[in-house]
Amino acid sequence: MLQFACPSIQRIFFLSSISLLSGVTIARAQQQYDSTDHRATEVYTPVPPIVTPGAQCGEAPSDAVILFNGQNEDEWVKVSDGTPATWKVADGILTVDKATGNIQTKRTFTNYQLHLEYRIPADITGEDQARGNSGVFLASLGKGDAGYELQILDNYNNKTYTNGQVGSIYKQSVPLANPSRKPGEWSTYDIIWTAPVFNADASLASPARVTVFLNGVLVQNNFTLIGVTRYIGKPYYTAHGPSPIKLQAHGDKSEPISFRNIWVRPL
Ligand code: MG
Repeated sequence: MLQFACPSIQRIFFLSSISLLSGVTIARAQQQYDSTDHRATEVYTPVPPIVTPGAQCGEAPSDAVILFNGQNEDEWVKVSDGTPATWKVADGILTVDKATGNIQTKRTFTNYQLHLEYRIPADITGEDQARGNSGVFLASLGKGDAGYELQILDNYNNKTYTNGQVGSIYKQSVPLANPSRKPGEWSTYDIIWTAPVFNADASLASPARVTVFLNGVLVQNNFTLIGVTRYIGKPYYTAHGPSPIKLQAHGDKSEPISFRNIWVRPL
């Protein structure tokens, strides 16, 4: 189940790190050596922290915060009233309970790397947006669907508006590909979220950005969001700080989807 295109994911992380470090550290090295000396472009600090990777690609690395380990919902609360989440936990799997609505993490996050796995039921019914609909709100901004939704939907053989299919930033960004698996099979999301930054007067300083791999395939490539995701109307930004991560219990009548192996690395 854990057959991801991890080399491609790791390459993105590597390139991001290089771009952050290169400006400062190479300039420092250049001050010590003539530009014709190979040492002028070699740096030894900062030293990246040691992180022990999971035994298999997709398993939590040593510095991850485990949000669902298959045992309990200790990291989650109901969005409606903040009481402990009561979605169904059985056989290491978390299954949506539509009656209790959306759930979100107790912890709050700003920038992060998130991994989760979801499964559309093999006997899924419905069509369009009413077929295995859920979602990951990359920053939850309160009750209902307030926030920034990365869509989850069964689009293995199900058409809908393309900026609302699986892998979309809902009604903002059509995914670059549709690597859906058959209902009944587990899918993986690997997400890099860069939160928006706001000025002291609540105006936007820099927008949110997101990179997403679905089943190891790039579906969002450093997409710049234009605001919160909305069912009706144009997106907009409202100033906020660190926020929970929210999972959607969509109100349609199709069979509820399941999750497993959810972990996050604050960045
Ligand atoms: Mg949804």
